[in-house]
Amino acid sequence: MKKKLFYLITNLIFGLVSAYSQKPNFIVIFTDDQGYGDLGCYGHPTIKTPNLDKMASEGQRWTNFYSAANVCTPSRAALLTGRLPVRNGMESNQRRVLFPDSDGGLPASELTIAEMLKTANYATGMVGKWHLGHLPQYLPTKNGFDTYLGIPYSNDMDRAAGLSRDEFFSPESKNYKVPLIKNEKEIERPTDQTTITKRYTDESIRFIKENKNKPFFLYLAHSMPHIPLFSSKEFEGKSERGVYGDVIEEIDWSVGEILKTLKSLHLDKNTYVLFTSDNGPWKIFNEHGGSAGSLFGGKGTCYEGGMRVPFLVWSPQNIKPAVISDIGSTLDMLPSICQLAGISVPSDRTIDGYDLSEVWKKKIEVRETKCYITTARNFLR
Ligand code: MG
Repeated sequence: MKKKLFYLITNLIFGLVSAYSQKPNFIVIFTDDQGYGDLGCYGHPTIKTPNLDKMASEGQRWTNFYSAANVCTPSRAALLTGRLPVRNGMESNQRRVLFPDSDGGLPASELTIAEMLKTANYATGMVGKWHLGHLPQYLPTKNGFDTYLGIPYSNDMDRAAGLSRDEFFSPESKNYKVPLIKNEKEIERPTDQTTITKRYTDESIRFIKENKNKPFFLYLAHSMPHIPLFSSKEFEGKSERGVYGDVIEEIDWSVGEILKTLKSLHLDKNTYVLFTSDNGPWKIFNEHGGSAGSLFGGKGTCYEGGMRVPFLVWSPQNIKPAVISDIGSTLDMLPSICQLAGISVPSDRTIDGYDLSEVWKKKIEVRETKCYITTARNFLR
């Protein structure tokens, strides 16, 4: 009991000290192929996302926020570099994303958010889907991240020969020989995808706890809800929206666990949590794909449904709650994070994003909307 009390008091003192003396922590949670309309706070009538909805009501929910690309690889490169794919090298007229037989990756000359934050002595960790080059020289640990646990490309790649399209609808992990990599070493192949969201969450919490005494940056890029869909036993068959709903509800649970961890360590006041998606829903897979709400189009298209994504930013005491209808983009993450960390953006190259930190703090005038949710039209699919 004495030991516990000592621990609690120490933790509280540490939390208070760190809140007022440290540079802020950053957690970017990036989902894969999750549509604009898939969260309760964006109007979905049946998928239950209480943790994300709470995050939205305590922070800011943006209604005109855009990914920099409509497919995985260029979208991720843009988020991490603050530069359009046409500048950072992750765009091609041959292939739209990297594949297991690709020999390229994010050029070493590019600077990621992690590399920028390393200059300010941040601890940096990546968990989840990378998709910016699977060869050793391109892995997250070569791009500013101290630690990495995740899959190097999409969860449908390295597929067993002869699988039909229907296999996507009742998938088995063994049919996708996707490796799970820890730092630079393959530790599992094929990756058991049924536990992937849970294991990403455990690793994220481990990283937060291990680095609670110094500023940190965690980039958690979920493999889900990219098809084929997998959820753990606890979430299987639970959602009214079927398998896709199960997957989103597990991601929502994961967000809740991370916020709970921040609160228990008294890090919530000094941590910015940013949540968004890499591109719109993969609608060609019908009910296994998500919903872009009332927007036309989905993944792979340049219509609104392919590019406009949910964006939530949460940091009690720092973020002024609002629903923002001004335009923002994943390109803006790097300049905003650099500004809040007190470091300058690279001056030797074009940075396409803008610093949104003043908007998050509402220190400048912005367009807001009173409309809490978007129309539910087209959600029932
Ligand atoms: Mg994607």
